[in-house]
Amino acid sequence: MNRTNYHTHTLYCDGRAQMEEFLRFAVAQRFTSLGFSSHAPLPFATAWTMEWDRMEDYLAEFQRMKLRYQNKLELCIGLEIDYLNSQSNPSIERFQQLPLDYRIGSVHMLADSLGKLVDIDCPPLHFRELVDSRFRGDVVEVVCRYYHQLNAMLDAGGFDIVGHPDKMHYNASCYRPGLLDESWYDNLVRSYLARIVEKGYIVEVNTKAYEDTHTFFPNERYYTYLYNIGAKVQVNSDAHYPDKIANGRQAALQALWNAGFRTVTEWHNGGWQQVPLCGKILI
Ligand SMILES: [Zn+2]
Ligand SMILES: [Zn+2]
Repeated sequence: MNRTNYHTHTLYCDGRAQMEEFLRFAVAQRFTSLGFSSHAPLPFATAWTMEWDRMEDYLAEFQRMKLRYQNKLELCIGLEIDYLNSQSNPSIERFQQLPLDYRIGSVHMLADSLGKLVDIDCPPLHFRELVDSRFRGDVVEVVCRYYHQLNAMLDAGGFDIVGHPDKMHYNASCYRPGLLDESWYDNLVRSYLARIVEKGYIVEVNTKAYEDTHTFFPNERYYTYLYNIGAKVQVNSDAHYPDKIANGRQAALQALWNAGFRTVTEWHNGGWQQVPLCGKILI
């Protein structure tokens, strides 16, 4: 039934509930596997990342839950790790040494022209203000910086899943309507998606914003392309609240089915597997 989710934020970072509350919802919705992916520590404090001094507790709490729920669903433990630069990203030893099942690589922050970091993963109006105040209104430059960082992340490696692969597209196309149809933008995204597939990473279809915006990350317009180039895909809700773990899930699975996909990547028996997409319930 493809009821899984591997992008889940709890109170260890900016999620709003304990691991166990997510598990109760997952069991009630007949999930077969679930992974936790707190925002990994950054070299500075933020309101949305976990601190290093919580890591041991995070891993221990997961082990308790894994044991407690072993007869109900399979659990796995990960982190969502930011690519900031060559010193702070999923590939660094400190993250690689952790006993994790998987890692999600994501970009949420960009350096402005002065080298100061800007969190561009924000609501569209705030994004507009940031582009105007920190990047001289040059949204093309912001888009190019974003994909430069994402491509650098692909090269550095050390993770399994590319988190919300084109998340900025929603904000950038609010700033500049029609952006997605511009050929330079389309080429940039397609060559980036091709590199994800070439390097063997899992492409996350992130449904976090689907209820509000009817948009997935990556945008649905690329699904046929992703299918044609042999992408491995996985639907994740990026849930921060337990009742949102399955948000947008059916719609995303349907969109993948419509594009030709017949399998998705799920965690079973201690590893990633290609599992048939349940077309029967979708069509
Ligand atoms: Zn994220
Ligand atoms: Zn996330």
